This record gives sequence, structure tokens and C-alpha cells, in this order.
Amino acid sequence: MNNTPTTFDVIVIGGGLAGLCSAIHLSKNNYSVLVIEKNEYPKHKVCGEYISNEVLPYLNFLGIDVFELGAKKINQFELSTPKNKLVKAQLPLGGFGISRYCLDNELAKKAIDNKVTIIQDTVEEVEFSNDLFSIKTKQATYNSKITIGAYGKRANLDVKLKRKFIKNKSPFLAIKTHIKGEFPDDLVALHNFEGGYCGVSKVEDDSINICYITDFEAFKKYKDINEFQQKLVFKNNALKKVFQNSKSVFETPLTISQISFETKNPIEKHMLMCGDTAGMIHPLCGNGMSMAIRSAQMASLLIIQFFNDDIKDRLTLEKQYLREWNAEFKSRIATGHFVANLFSKNRLAEILIRIVKSVPSILPYIIKRTHGKTMTIE
Ligand SMILES: Cc1cc2nc3c(=O)[nH]c(=O)nc-3n(C[C@H](O)[C@H](O)[C@H](O)COP(=O)(O)OP(=O)(O)OC[C@H]3O[C@@H](n4cnc5c(N)ncnc54)[C@H](O)[C@@H]3O)c2cc1C
Repeated sequence: MNNTPTTFDVIVIGGGLAGLCSAIHLSKNNYSVLVIEKNEYPKHKVCGEYISNEVLPYLNFLGIDVFELGAKKINQFELSTPKNKLVKAQLPLGGFGISRYCLDNELAKKAIDNKVTIIQDTVEEVEFSNDLFSIKTKQATYNSKITIGAYGKRANLDVKLKRKFIKNKSPFLAIKTHIKGEFPDDLVALHNFEGGYCGVSKVEDDSINICYITDFEAFKKYKDINEFQQKLVFKNNALKKVFQNSKSVFETPLTISQISFETKNPIEKHMLMCGDTAGMIHPLCGNGMSMAIRSAQMASLLIIQFFNDDIKDRLTLEKQYLREWNAEFKSRIATGHFVANLFSKNRLAEILIRIVKSVPSILPYIIKRTHGKTMTIE
């Protein structure tokens, strides 16, 4: 029996947005790609599910038409403070609402159509020697010339890789549910409450996505999610109104904890890290998914150049990826931190809203600073 592991051109660890987009892109160029994803498709994920239009040309290039899938076109934005001050704005570029249940599943189907191998397994270790990666999962070992790390915000693999951020506890947890009720199709709202903020927008099946992020300190004073919502979240009138007369679609909300916004390294053990694995923007910016998709394109284009010998060696590939990643994302992430900090201080949030009310152009300006330009197809 031959026990030699199969060698792929590229192994992608994690089949979320970043992983699947890079897998489709590379398979379109006839490279052999293995995606290792620990969960099955389709699956709901904790996410606000509002995506900026900047990714539309690239999704089309990959063969995905989100509007054929029923995505809602969104061009209005509403922001409220814990003290119920409300401002509205037109979104500079706009976006769309689609559930991760639907989008990730469609991307996975497209990847399989393109001859990507997807296996359901968990990567436990990554080794690199003699210019080859050895990827150990729970069940097997695979080899590759290139490995993309696209396993999301936090995983056991980060512990194995001794990544710095994983040692520090994060105070943030997030809760997401889908409800049926009254809410405009073309609106994404960001409603703040003491200790957190909540995104609201519609997705393809007319469900309203409710996704909030809060500080564990604020949350632990209440006995459960229901009490937390009744006593704290619903002090925001706009949120109370959304929930009124609504019906829950999920049996129980989804929760995640330990959401870290600390700086990460986009290259780790010669892997090109994509999406949240490389760095995470505050969810209130509504740009994490676009960043994941954009970083997948960035990595794929460079990997193709590497295989074509237009990039001469691995070190040059890594340096180029790092340079492009920093140029594209560093300032978005920094602006996101700044805005999230302002909103964590209630008094400053109220002052900001007052300024925005008297100079309305500030809001689209801040939104632009946390978003990228419409992606081009190279
Ligand atoms: C509360 C909240 C709200 C948000 N709202 C928005 C929003 O409205 N708009 C927006 O643009 N962004 C939003 N984001 C950000 C967005 O969800 C992420 O940026 C995006 O999901 C990143 O995609 P990804 O492909 O990097 O990671 P993921 O989508 O997390 O995919 C990673 C995949 O890797 C798999 N995996 C993990 N470990 C392993 C392993 N060891 N082996 C194999 N597979 C593994 C996981 O199962 C997962 O499927 C939000 C984030 C949060 C926390």
C-alpha cells in the first residue's frame, strides 16, 4: 500500500469566504486545490451578513451572481446611539444582504464544479520543510507547494503556530439570530446600546439578520440572552421596534466569544493568511467579508505569478503579499478601531452624532475610510 500523502498545488485551510474564493480563483487557472473545512455546508455563521458592493465584480468573475440568489440591494444606512439619537445617510457605494448559510454554500458548490477537492476535516498541524507543506488533519496528511491559511478569527491552529494574539483574552462576544418582521429591504442599521452595538439588515429569504457584539462585562450582569435583550438592548428604541411583532427563525441564537481585534501576521510559517486569519476589522464597519474576499484575490494573483515564475522565489512571494496586504487593509482596520473606540464611550458617541447631524458629509466619509474601492479583475 502506498502511504505517500497526495500533493496538491495549493491547500486551503478553512472553507469560509476567503478560503473558497481563493480556491475557485486558483482552480480557474487549472491548479489542483484542496480545501479542508471542519464544518459541513450549509451552516449558519455569526455574521452581520451585509456585504459591500466593492466585491461584486470579483464574485461575478468567480461565477457567483448574488442577486440571482435573492440578495437584497442595500443603499441606506441608519445609526443610533444608546440615548436614541438617530442619523441616516446614503451609503457611498452600497452593498447587499445575503446569509452566510446561502453564500458559503454556493461558493462551495462552485468550487466543486471547478474540480476543487473539499474535505470535511480539521487541520491540526502545519509543517514546512524542503519547500513543501505537510498538513496534518484529524484523519490524514496532505502535502502542498503553497498553503493558504483561511481558518477565520481564532482556531486551535493559532495555538500550535504560537501566534501572539491567541495568548490574550478578548472581552467581546457576539450573538446572531434571524427573525421575520417589518424592516426595509434597502437598509442596514447600526444601533448602539450600552456596552455594544447591533447590526440589522435583511437577507435573501426575507429574514432580518440581527447580529450584536457586546462586552462580556455588560453581558454577565444578566441571567440569559433574553434578559440581556429586554433590560439592556431594548433601551435602544429602534432595536425594540425591530423585535416588536417579530417571530424568531432560529430556535436559539448563535453565539461566539473571544473575538479579538489584535494585530496578526499575514504570513505565518510560509503560509499566506487570508481573511480574518490575517487580521480583523471591527464588525461595525461591515467590511470584514469584503476584506476576506479581497485578500483571497490578492493571494491568488500572486500565487499564479509564483507558479508562472513571474515571482522568482518564495521569499519574494511572501514579501509582496505582505506589502500588498498592508497597503490595502492597514488603514481600514485602524479607522475601524478608532470608530469602535468612539462608540464604546457613550459621551463621545453622542458628540459624534451631533457633529454628523450638523455636517452630514462626515458619515459617508467615515464609511469610505473603512471600505475599499470596487475590486478590479486582473
Ligand atoms: C459579530 C460579527 C458581525 C459581523 N458582521 C459583518 C458584516 O455585516 N459585514 C461584513 O462584511 N463582515 C462582518 N463580520 C466579519 C466577517 O464575518 C468575517 O470577516 C468573515 O467571515 C471572514 O471570512 P473568513 O473566510 O476569513 O473566515 P470564516 O468565514 O470564519 O471561515 C473560516 C472557516 O475555517 C474553518 N476552520 C477553522 N478552523 C479550522 C481548522 N483547523 N481546520 C479546518 N477548517 C477550519 C471554519 O469552520 C470556517 O468555515 C462580522 C463579524 C462578527 C464577529
